[in-house]
Amino acid sequence: MADTNSMLLTGGRVIDPASKLDKVTDVLVVNGKIAAVGAEAKAQASKNVERFDAKGLVVCPGLIDLHVHLREPGQSAKETIATGTAAAARGGFTSLVCMPNTSPAIDSAGTVALIREKALREGVVNVFVAGAISKGIAGEELAPIGSLKQAGVVAITDDGHCIQNNDLMRRALEYAKMFDLPVMDHCQDYSLVTDGVMNEGYWSTALGLRGWPAAGEDMIVARNILLAELTGARVHCQHISSAGSVALLRDAKKRGVPISGEACPHHFVLTDATIAGSAKFWAGDGKELFGYAAGERPSWPNYHTNFKMNPPLRSARDREAVLEGLVDGTLEILCSDHAPHCDYEKEVEFDYAPFGITGLETELALSLMQLHHTKRLGLSELIAKFTMAPAELLRLDKGTLKAGADADVTVFDPEHEWVYHPENSASKSYNTPFFGWRLKGKAVMTMVAGKVVWREGKESAMVGHDG
Ligand SMILES: [Zn+2]
Repeated sequence: MADTNSMLLTGGRVIDPASKLDKVTDVLVVNGKIAAVGAEAKAQASKNVERFDAKGLVVCPGLIDLHVHLREPGQSAKETIATGTAAAARGGFTSLVCMPNTSPAIDSAGTVALIREKALREGVVNVFVAGAISKGIAGEELAPIGSLKQAGVVAITDDGHCIQNNDLMRRALEYAKMFDLPVMDHCQDYSLVTDGVMNEGYWSTALGLRGWPAAGEDMIVARNILLAELTGARVHCQHISSAGSVALLRDAKKRGVPISGEACPHHFVLTDATIAGSAKFWAGDGKELFGYAAGERPSWPNYHTNFKMNPPLRSARDREAVLEGLVDGTLEILCSDHAPHCDYEKEVEFDYAPFGITGLETELALSLMQLHHTKRLGLSELIAKFTMAPAELLRLDKGTLKAGADADVTVFDPEHEWVYHPENSASKSYNTPFFGWRLKGKAVMTMVAGKVVWREGKESAMVGHDG
């Protein structure tokens, strides 16, 4: 019988940014832990251990997505812990952080305990919990930050909402600092944004939709920089979408302010021109994208609600600035903002549709395509944004292949081309703009604590047998 939760992965390109390792070698997993990396891996492997030929593949620490909406409790028609973590595993993710804007909101120790317990039973990847900053995410009164920390949250955020009262935010930062918790913020100034539904600019005017100005994001990023400086607390700005925000963060980081930022693939792949329909997008902002031949460019109608998210898709200039921020390290973290919604909720007029798209199954490929295949970033730098950087921000004992670490391992093929279809999705929701797109780069195997939770091909093979 093969050893349990053990495996020898041979001949892969092993990339572990935390150990500054990037070479073709072997990794030995024994009883759910990394036992050895390098020449000693093979020497130490027992003869019963399962072997995995990783030749031509990248072997790296399990990817971490620190911005996921699992929708439990309260919104399990959209997603559940079981389906959301299955989608994560397919996407190559071994750990995720779930956002607290559930119903009820995750603003008490009891709700944190409920989710952690359910995730242990039903989740296939590690689920870390973010608690709310304010009670009920109402932005009026602080949540019990100390007891949230005791219950195990790794950060606090009112994501989906943004605390408008600067004094309340200051006090949240002061409390969070006492508990060494990072404060993650969805940056949106309500008085500037009001009921904007897409980026304010040429296309919002042309399409007659209410604009969500980039200044509404920049204003809160600037506020957060000032408050991080004042309090010394660690502030993390979520889903950065605008050139102004990137410039503010770059300057603040130069001055040593404890501030960080993340980017999601939709903001550095797409622009607001997508809302005018595919023909307009491919003729303009999408012209150079992914080198698709004319005949294989996906098409969609104008006003498609799968291009509606918050913050919104912005201009080509903003998209370029986000890419530059990722390249120069201003934005150190990649994540999805996986935000599932039911079909019937999205199948309404653009104005009335909820914001958000799913992303766990496409973020690795889209990041590889825009950052690695375009030679903007090396593989190791890209992997760091999915592993070491989020682990550092959240103080997780994850994100590395060092001997003794939990054997959370992702194996992916950066060159594998595939087309994303609803039948390849494990998510309960289908609100992604990327169905039908030819993507390049895919997780081949995802392992959590030595246990394989996803393996490419196994499922299609099983379907074949069932006829
Ligand atoms: Zn958000």
